[in-house]
Amino acid sequence: MSAHRTQVHVSAPRLTRVDEARRIVLAQATTLGPERVRLEDGIGRVLAQDVIAEASLPPFDNSAMDGYTVRSADTAGASREQPVRLKLVGKVAAGQTLEREVNRGEAAKIMTGAPLPIGADSVVMLEEARFRDGIVEIRSPVAPGSHIRKVGEDIPAGNSVLTAGSRIRLQHLGLLAGLGYATLPVYRSPTVVVLATGSELVNIDEPLAPGKIRNSNGLVLAALLRQLGIQPLDLGTAVDERVRIQRKLQEAAASDVILISGGVSVGEHDLVKRILRDLGMEIFFWRVNMKPGKPLLFGRWRGKVIFGLPGNPISCVVCFLEFISPFLRKVMGERDVDQGRVHARLTQSIRKKEPRRQLFTAKLEEDQGGLSVTPTPQQGSGMLNSLAQANAFIVVPEETMRLEASDLVEVLPLWGD
Ligand code: AMP
Ligand code: MG
Repeated sequence: MSAHRTQVHVSAPRLTRVDEARRIVLAQATTLGPERVRLEDGIGRVLAQDVIAEASLPPFDNSAMDGYTVRSADTAGASREQPVRLKLVGKVAAGQTLEREVNRGEAAKIMTGAPLPIGADSVVMLEEARFRDGIVEIRSPVAPGSHIRKVGEDIPAGNSVLTAGSRIRLQHLGLLAGLGYATLPVYRSPTVVVLATGSELVNIDEPLAPGKIRNSNGLVLAALLRQLGIQPLDLGTAVDERVRIQRKLQEAAASDVILISGGVSVGEHDLVKRILRDLGMEIFFWRVNMKPGKPLLFGRWRGKVIFGLPGNPISCVVCFLEFISPFLRKVMGERDVDQGRVHARLTQSIRKKEPRRQLFTAKLEEDQGGLSVTPTPQQGSGMLNSLAQANAFIVVPEETMRLEASDLVEVLPLWGD
């Protein structure tokens, strides 16, 4: 190898392709086994077993209206001029049962949700019948099954409710509760610690001294973790000193996953990578072909998975979305590890300077033609306000150097699930 080529190699180590990096990351993700949680704690967790409806919903035929329950055959030929007259033989409210049959020529008063008495097959709305002297008058024929909610019409016994690997969401709770699932088998969540490194960092409730900034990454990463149903352990901040960082790492070592922000770049105070390497971390990759987010470090140390994230706040978020979120979703047993991506029309052109996968903070909007997306006016890995104005990232592939208005682009919505 020529001296010149050696030189190039030293100053510009290979950037791992994003898709390759994702493969490496996902290969390290293994589920942690099941546990049972109460239904109310199950939201956001991932089912470890298929859930089958053990009983039907509704559990019995019942009335969808307040009215009179009748035998529909009795009402054939009923008209305004010649109403059918049925004898009222009882009343049944929700939660009760009628202890007798409704025979030919009879009707019973019934309330919404009350079980259909034996013999009856339909309900006439209160407003459509007339009651006088113990007699119910019906003025038009009633079709069998009218205003009846059939047993199992919501879900029949034996049907699949949710399959293993699906995340339990708010919309599932009612059904699961209705079917009596007081507890559910879910995958154990990994324990995850968050550590922010940097001598410039102060806590968000502290005043700024010269040269200092607030630690926003710690809070944002913790919130992103909570959104995945993981309760993070926030270790706060560590200044860029070997002993301080080492001490925090000892604390972090009890967790399954360690997220460290800052200190993984090439600066002389970027100690995290060096410390971890000295402590015996197995590095699977360092630096990915992505912008922002290039300095990402990934590996294992003492059996724990470590993500070393760039300190720039937007880089940090992008790395979370592209790598950490799919990793954790897979660890949590979720079948679909990717956050839903959509396609949208660009409203303006985009130029890239390097052949890296690039993510742009952007505003995704609904317009006449469908979805449109506009990059925020400012782009930069440290632009917190650009992120605040965004509801999505535009993802531009490595090879694409320019995009024009009305081109269709891939969009990663925030913080959709
Ligand atoms: P680093 O990755 O340590 O080189 O940091 C890159 C940039 O991100 C620097 O401008 C840092 O001040 C900033 N930064 C690092 N950590 C944080 C943090 N926890 N919150 C906000 N900004 C940070
Ligand atoms: Mg730093």
